[in-house]
Amino acid sequence: MAPGGSTCKEVLESHSTVANYDTAKVVNNITPTKAIVSFGGKHGLSSTNGVHELLECSVCSNLMYPPIHQCPNGHTLCSDCKITAHNCCPTCRYELGDIRCLALEKVAESLELPCRYQSLGCHDTFPYYSKLKHEQHCRFRPFNCPYAGSECSVTGDIPTLVAHLKEDHRVDMHDGCTFNHRYVKMNPHEVENATWMLTVFNCFGKQFCLHFEAFQIGVAPVYMAFLRFMGDDDEAKNFSYSLEVGANGRKLIWQGIPRSIRDSHRKVRDSQDGLIIHRSLALYFSGGDRQELKLRVTGRIWKEQ
Ligand SMILES: [Zn+2]
Ligand SMILES: [Zn+2]
Ligand SMILES: [Zn+2]
Ligand SMILES: [Zn+2]
Repeated sequence: MAPGGSTCKEVLESHSTVANYDTAKVVNNITPTKAIVSFGGKHGLSSTNGVHELLECSVCSNLMYPPIHQCPNGHTLCSDCKITAHNCCPTCRYELGDIRCLALEKVAESLELPCRYQSLGCHDTFPYYSKLKHEQHCRFRPFNCPYAGSECSVTGDIPTLVAHLKEDHRVDMHDGCTFNHRYVKMNPHEVENATWMLTVFNCFGKQFCLHFEAFQIGVAPVYMAFLRFMGDDDEAKNFSYSLEVGANGRKLIWQGIPRSIRDSHRKVRDSQDGLIIHRSLALYFSGGDRQELKLRVTGRIWKEQ
């Protein structure tokens, strides 16, 4: 061992007695007001925003929620970072032990904070501990890009995503609430688990994503068409849609309710909530020598009263 070093191993013996809840209890006796002042002073923060900053984990910068941990020297960190720190304080390298920072947890309780999506239009404020729960369901939280072809990490509000679909994914945009689409594929037997097409419809001042794709249910190759609503679920329920595909006097009709794009493309697909056409029937509808897929899908979107 290097003399005078302060690695975790050496500290293990000399500081192990500190690692109990007595420390936290003593700290906890300080009134919240005093706690704000003393913590603020220690970190050189003068504004009340300083309290908010104190609640940011020094390692990952996320807001900390109980249990908030601290090392024997008072460095605080969140419970996720405590696990990855392997009992070694990331700031001072001392052994972490199991010390909770109850004072900070109490201070947090007294805070009212704005929703993190304030800049996107949410003007509510929340007690610290209910803020996280609200944000998971906040109607202003950004949407994920609905494009299904590849994993796309773009998020944003609906106008942002509509512009993104146009510019970056070159998605077809159509105005109107009826559609008549032809899907043609030269080698339908080569397509497995492939996402084919996304078309966006603009009607009722809203946008709808029509997905058409090939995949397999078990060993059966199928084509599936379904509609997703660019907005939240409660609004999606105000709409209905129908899809029709057929030829030679046969017809398949699907009527459904568009799913919100909050539900991932894969989730909707796997729940089979759409028009499903088995490949053999799709090729029968295509006519000819069954070597080419030619499907005409018609549909309509309407608003329920
Ligand atoms: Zn952290
Ligand atoms: Zn430390
Ligand atoms: Zn909110
Ligand atoms: Zn995208």
